[in-house]
Amino acid sequence: MYGDPEQPEAFIPLHAPVFRGNEKKYLEKCIDSTFVSSVGAYVDEFEGRMTEYTGSAQAVACVNGTSALHLALRLCGADRETEVITQPLTFVATANAIRYCGAEPVFLDVDRETMGLSPDALRNWLKNHAEITSISDWNEPTCINKSTGRRIAACVPMHAYGHPCRIDDIVRICEEYHIPLVEDAAESVGSFFRERHTGTFGDIGVLSFNGNKVITAGGGGMLLFRDKEMAGRAKHLSTQARVPHKWEFIHDQTGYNYRMPNVNAALGLAQLEQLPRFLREKRRIAEQYREFFAGSDTNGQAAGDASIIFMTEPEHAHSNYWLNTIMLPGKPARDEFLAYTNDQGIMTRPAWRLMNELEMYRSCQTDRLDNARDLADRLVNIPSSVPGNIL
Ligand SMILES: *Cc1c(COP(=O)(O)O)cnc(C)c1O
Repeated sequence: MYGDPEQPEAFIPLHAPVFRGNEKKYLEKCIDSTFVSSVGAYVDEFEGRMTEYTGSAQAVACVNGTSALHLALRLCGADRETEVITQPLTFVATANAIRYCGAEPVFLDVDRETMGLSPDALRNWLKNHAEITSISDWNEPTCINKSTGRRIAACVPMHAYGHPCRIDDIVRICEEYHIPLVEDAAESVGSFFRERHTGTFGDIGVLSFNGNKVITAGGGGMLLFRDKEMAGRAKHLSTQARVPHKWEFIHDQTGYNYRMPNVNAALGLAQLEQLPRFLREKRRIAEQYREFFAGSDTNGQAAGDASIIFMTEPEHAHSNYWLNTIMLPGKPARDEFLAYTNDQGIMTRPAWRLMNELEMYRSCQTDRLDNARDLADRLVNIPSSVPGNIL
C-alpha cells in the first residue's frame, strides 16, 4: 500500500505513516532490554498514556484491532446463540469479529452525514424486532430478537473514516433496550464527540494501530473500558487465560494469544507523542480539500467540481480526518474518477463493498439500507497522508 518498490516515483498513496519522533530511540531501547515480546514496560506505558488521552478508565493493548474486537464481543457474551447489530458500511473486520464468536451479524443502515450507524434505523428495527425479557442466565433484563428468539449480545457502531457517528443517541437506545455497546473506533483515534474521545461512550471501545491508521504500532489494537473489572478479564483472556503463578502453567479457560508485543508498543508510544501534530496537519489538509471541492480556492477562483461533495465532520464532532472522503454524483462518475486518478498514480479507493453483499454475509438479517447503498456507490477516499517533512 505504501513504500511499494513496484510503484512509480510520483505515486501518491492514500495514507503513509510518518516516523519523525522517538520511534528509533524507543525501538533501540526495547531491543536492548531484550523484552521485545508480550511483556514489557512499553506496553504498560502505551496503555497508560492512551487511557489518559482518551479519558477511559483502563486500556488493554492487543495484537491488532480485529483481535480487540473479537475479545470485546466475547466479553459481551457473544456466542452461537446470539446476534450482534452493526452497520453494513464498514471494514470487514467488524463483521468477521462477530462471526469469530459464532454470532450472527444484523446489518442496519447508516446516516448519510456521519456514514456511521443510524440511531433512527436502530430504534426502528428494535421497535419491530426486539423484546426485553428478564429470564436469562444472568437474571438481568436481556434483549431478544422476537423473530429468531436469539439474544442481542451487542451493538457495534463504527466511526467511519474518523467521523464520529451519533453516538449519544445510540448510547440512549442501547441503554433503553439493555444491549451492550461496543464502539468500533479503529479509525477514529483522535476523534471526539461532544469533547469526549470516541470509544469511551460504550461499554467497550476498540482502536487500531495498523500501518495505515492515524498512528501505527506496526500492528496493534486497544480495548478501552469504563469498568476496570472488565478490563482485567480482557487482559486475562488476551494472555492465554494464564493464572499468575511463580512457575506453574495454569489456564482457567480457553484464552487467546492477543497481547501486544513490547516492540509494537515502543513504536506506538513514539507515534502517540506525535498525535497532536498529526491531527493539526490532517485538519489543515482537510480544510484545503474542503475549499477546493467547494468550487473555489482561497482567492475566490473556480477550482473544484461543485457536484462533488467533500465529507466534513458531523455536528458536535471533532474528527481526526483519517481518510478524506468525497461523494461523487453517482456510480458511473465514481468509477470514472477512480480509473482516472489511479492511472495518474494518485491512489484513491471506493468505500467498502457492503458486508451483506459479501458471500459469507449474504444471508444475514438486514433492514432498509438506502443510505448505505447510496454511499457505497458514491464515496471515494482520497490521499490523506501527513507530509513527512513537516515535523
Ligand atoms: C482497521 C480496522 C479494523 C481492524 O483493525 P486491524 O488493526 O487492522 O486488525 C477494524 N474495524 C475497522 C472499521 C477498521 O478500519
